[in-house]
Amino acid sequence: MNELDLPALLPGTVWLVGAGPGDPGLLTLLAVQALAQADVVVYDALVDRRILALAHTGATLEYAGKRGGTPSPSQPDISDRLVALARAGKRVLRLKGGDPFVFGRGGEEALVLASAGIPFRVVPGITAGIGGLAYAGIPVTHRRIARAVTFITGHDIAAEGPEGLDWISLARTPVLVCYMARGQIALLTGRLIEAGRDPSDPAALISKASQPDQQVIETSLDRLADASQASETPAILVIGEVVRLRAALDWFKPVSNPLAPGT
Ligand code: SAH
Repeated sequence: MNELDLPALLPGTVWLVGAGPGDPGLLTLLAVQALAQADVVVYDALVDRRILALAHTGATLEYAGKRGGTPSPSQPDISDRLVALARAGKRVLRLKGGDPFVFGRGGEEALVLASAGIPFRVVPGITAGIGGLAYAGIPVTHRRIARAVTFITGHDIAAEGPEGLDWISLARTPVLVCYMARGQIALLTGRLIEAGRDPSDPAALISKASQPDQQVIETSLDRLADASQASETPAILVIGEVVRLRAALDWFKPVSNPLAPGT
């Protein structure tokens, strides 16, 4: 990759890097280079093992996410850790699932680095709400049936007042993609239907997108809460006519999935 003249991850700096939804083939060249050059990789729960395995052998891997019941480091702890590592002269790779600036608190970490005067670079990744849909054969937009898309997080979905979501506009958006939806699906679907969204609207829940055990549940808005009981996490939810295109476009056949047709 030298001939590309990519920037190097220098001592005393932090790169906030998106690792994509799982398939290592979706990493950017900058992400691969950062894995090869980092002294410390501070990674989240959603980063695929196969990707961490690309870190060079001398690199220290530091886990910064939640894991089965153990308390997770708080956000200020993680940001402070990044600052401390950079001040100690390390080449720091902050590796996040998907894209670091999409519902990943990358913005918060970058603000702390900026105010601490730590040089940083942001390396975008393929976000689950686009790449995950692609692996399920669902185009996130389509010229004739969906010319706008809305991304929301299921976190704090119940908030009311100025913090609350605009349910009328969410009921109207051609494609609604919801991250972290799993625990909130009954509330989400109820509010959307109340606000006028067609209960028969097609919906899909894609679990472990782009990974060997990817699972896709296709259903309708009114059946989503029931259907989602069988799904695993992480899962991304999509509601809208684009889901119907999957009937023709379902191209991804995970090799090690015994349930996949034709394997
Ligand atoms: N920064 C990430 C999102 C972090 S929020 C990104 O850009 O993708 C975590 C949520 O992302 C999960 O609850 C889930 O909704 C979604 N997600 C991340 N990876 C996923 C995957 N491989 N399959 C399905 N959903 C995923």
